[in-house]
Amino acid sequence: MSTETVVMKFGGTSVGSIERIQLTAQRVMSEFARHKRLVVVVSAMAGQTDRLLDMGSSLNRSGSQAALREMDSLAATGEQVSAALLALALQQLGCKARSFTAHQVTIDTDGRFQRARIRSIDSKPLLDCLDQSCIGVVTGFQGTDDSGNLVTLGRGGSDTSAVAIAIALNADLCEIYTDVDGVYTADPRLVPAARKIEKISYDEMLELASTGAKVLMIRSVELAMKRRLNLSVRTSFSDAPGTLITDMNQNLEESVVTGLSHDLRQAKVSIIGLPGLPESLTTALGPLAEDDISVDFITQNIGSDGRMSLAFSVDEKLLERAVESLESHFRAASLADLRLEVARDLAKVSAVGIGMRTHAGVAHRVFSSLTRQHIPIFMALSTEIRVSCLIPAADCKRALEVLHGEFFEQPQPASAALH
Ligand code: ASP
Ligand code: MG
Repeated sequence: MSTETVVMKFGGTSVGSIERIQLTAQRVMSEFARHKRLVVVVSAMAGQTDRLLDMGSSLNRSGSQAALREMDSLAATGEQVSAALLALALQQLGCKARSFTAHQVTIDTDGRFQRARIRSIDSKPLLDCLDQSCIGVVTGFQGTDDSGNLVTLGRGGSDTSAVAIAIALNADLCEIYTDVDGVYTADPRLVPAARKIEKISYDEMLELASTGAKVLMIRSVELAMKRRLNLSVRTSFSDAPGTLITDMNQNLEESVVTGLSHDLRQAKVSIIGLPGLPESLTTALGPLAEDDISVDFITQNIGSDGRMSLAFSVDEKLLERAVESLESHFRAASLADLRLEVARDLAKVSAVGIGMRTHAGVAHRVFSSLTRQHIPIFMALSTEIRVSCLIPAADCKRALEVLHGEFFEQPQPASAALH
């Protein structure tokens, strides 16, 4: 008899209604029938976390620690509802199932409200449950702190709960069931020719997730990578196999690019007139780091007048804060002759692939494909496994289609490998 231990995580749509919960329970049952030891991690019913937070926000103007504590207690109830309902649905199908909250499995965290990080999980209650052929249903998103307060792991945090529980149980696999059936070579809503990726490395998935692909919470991939846990993304709406995220050093198909991602809400900020000194870079970017505003695509340039200009890209949501932070810092440091220029409505398009490590010329292929289509590139960046370009948001769909055609829809020249 197989004793494979699997953690199955279901997102909000899979537990969005009583009917969906019943279907999800059937899905869990059919896996259980294959002699697996199963722990299920659930999100709140679709839309529920937003509803709860909206209600809380209408009574919370202070943002104090005391208020954040209550906001987390409130948000964490969403997962408790779906865990209990799924356990009931499983019991109705005739199997043993028990729900667990963060307190009952002791998901110990660093205690930061709304963005807690998991420190440890006591696997014993779950192992006892599995030993009794019982299915454990655990609330995602929740944790506890040293004083027994409930905390949450940040939006989308149930993915991270599932991965952490899988690691604590030394599980063979963690399956993330979601409303898309896997990770695609590009967003299929924008690129109809996009296809599902069967297998992808942790590094590639991390790059795709951090450059705009929204399938998984980044922290869950980081955690899976650290512990080499096999992670699969699949849909609860069909039996189709999903995408396996695993340990791969090499792309066996020899394709240089594994996937394309995009992020539509980007802005570019230029700081003009800095003294042409090495420390100008830290002077200019220091305040942003202090204010926890992360930037990408940093370029600097010293003009013939000896002045330096510096440009970076930033998420449009953070733009206002970034500009305020820079302006107040410049005022305080009497750098009044500095000028800020802002460009909005930009998109970041990225090509990601571990194959780039051994193939030269990918950046050139990206740039020339875009240029042939007269898509302007405002900034570009190339790392060991990624090439990104900042382009007008209005050209994003066209850029993805062009790059998809270039890297996925034509036979790759066998001589492209230089090493
Ligand atoms: N229910 C939480 C959220 O909506 C956690 C999750 O779904 O992963 O963010
Ligand atoms: Mg999610």
